[in-house]
Amino acid sequence: MSIQNNKLTKDQYEANFADIHPPYESITAAKVDANRCLFCYDAPCMKSCPTSIDVPKFIKQIATENIKGSAKTILSSNIMGAGCSKVCPVEKLCEGACVYNLLEEEPIPIAKLQRYSTEQAMKNNWKLFERKNSPSGVRGKVAIVGAGPAGLSCAHSLSKEGVDVTIYEKESKGGGLMTYGIAAYKVTPQFCEDEVNYILSIGGIEVNYNQELGKDISLAELKKNYDAVYLGIGVGVARQLEIPGEKLDGVADAISFIYDLRSKGYSSIPVGDKVAVIGMGMTAIDAATQAKRLGAKEVTMVYRRTEAEKPCTQHELDIAMLDGCEIIWLATPKKLKGSQGKVKQLVCSKMKLGEPDASGRRSPVDTGETFTLDVDMVIKAAGQVPFEKLVKKYKLDNKNGKLTIDKNCATNIKGVFAGGDAVNGGKEVVDAVQAGKDGALAILKYLNLSQA
Ligand code: SF4
Repeated sequence: MSIQNNKLTKDQYEANFADIHPPYESITAAKVDANRCLFCYDAPCMKSCPTSIDVPKFIKQIATENIKGSAKTILSSNIMGAGCSKVCPVEKLCEGACVYNLLEEEPIPIAKLQRYSTEQAMKNNWKLFERKNSPSGVRGKVAIVGAGPAGLSCAHSLSKEGVDVTIYEKESKGGGLMTYGIAAYKVTPQFCEDEVNYILSIGGIEVNYNQELGKDISLAELKKNYDAVYLGIGVGVARQLEIPGEKLDGVADAISFIYDLRSKGYSSIPVGDKVAVIGMGMTAIDAATQAKRLGAKEVTMVYRRTEAEKPCTQHELDIAMLDGCEIIWLATPKKLKGSQGKVKQLVCSKMKLGEPDASGRRSPVDTGETFTLDVDMVIKAAGQVPFEKLVKKYKLDNKNGKLTIDKNCATNIKGVFAGGDAVNGGKEVVDAVQAGKDGALAILKYLNLSQA
């Protein structure tokens, strides 16, 4: 057993990380699907989209070959509509709500159609939005912390209204979770960079990279230099397992594993032969499938509840199973054993389901029985914890590190607003985009620039 990089050839890496959802090859193919749409009144697909994209309208525009109009319909509601078409769990959102499901027929491939229009917009650099001009000059200055989906969405909405925005981003690239935390076969690093550049092309948004709140910049400085501040800082720190052996070589956290894979390239990422992944959320699935695609011989996912309580979607689970990942339900890590500093075994407790917890899901209870897996790598994907220290340092109201905001997206500090994962603890990209829009509206109101 060994952990090493470069397990595959260049061609094998390229094949394993190729786009999982190939796009339409022609407008004719897109029109065939668009013409199946029933253009429902009060469309359930639109209602189930957190950003309320007018789905029947943009599909109709594709059917009539108005691709530019279609892209504008999508991006007016969701400026990250291109990325969301690749990463949204559409089976539980728009496509899951499509009326064709009730007829027991295939739903309209909304995401694929959305991808078609938005990629055309990016490829052709269509200028679909303009900044509002003010006869008296700039309409306010806002600082945004975090160039992830919430920050970018907030920045774009403010810029459209003529507000000057400066984003402070701790990484060297924008996009947040889209750029650093999602499997490369869903969305490539290059696509993410192109999408960020497309969003910024509206103008009026400056991004200062490698600038971390609490280290390179302070909240007091931002408050002093800007009319308002929006915190879209996300969640970042990986939850620890708090079990013996966690510091052994070969034990990694999923976010760092995926981050490295996307920022350093596939061939330079060491992966084991026998990999265990702890957790069953989207990040766990992305880590497991990518470990397999990097050349791991065996990947076993360990989850403390049953399939009925899994946090990932069935579609994601299917990807892991098709990739050959093994799943062990009702098990939780108890101890990691090693030799010469390297992880060799994962001891798990067998669980059973008890009473429902606060989330309404039945809680796992330790049965007292254990089993052992031989491993040479363990990837922890047991969730992320909010930036509790940072939030406390600035005396921002919070619940266990998650920022508390009122109905106007305002924190307890005057002029400081927040949204996205930093508030909700980690939801979908599309939820963060909507949070950014809500934050921008609240800031416009605060600056007396609201049209409402
Ligand atoms: Fe079209 Fe399905 Fe939406 Fe109806 S529910 S408008 S058929 S995509």
